[in-house]
Amino acid sequence: MLISCPHCGPRDVSEFTYQGDGNRVRPDHASTDIGAWNAYVYDRVNIAGEHNEIWQHSGGCRMHLSVTRNTLTHKISSSTPVQAARPTQKAARKSRTKA
Ligand SMILES: [Zn+2]
Repeated sequence: MLISCPHCGPRDVSEFTYQGDGNRVRPDHASTDIGAWNAYVYDRVNIAGEHNEIWQHSGGCRMHLSVTRNTLTHKISSSTPVQAARPTQKAARKSRTKA
């Protein structure tokens, strides 16, 4: 399996480290909802199809990537830097204060 690093180009999967599910949303830091924290830490879905994942190019530039991979065929349809795929904390704070 090849993963295309935006910085280094296509590289073998052995150069990358799986960092986890890219769809999980962390509860607010001030949240005391134990159920929400329990679900964030322990609950996982077993998707058959397109799945967003976080990978790190640990054997190369060490960039974190947001990768969309089909779990049935292992075909990768996109890989982008995590910073480009997710809103920054500053942008998230800005959108929260606008409401
Ligand atoms: Zn790289």
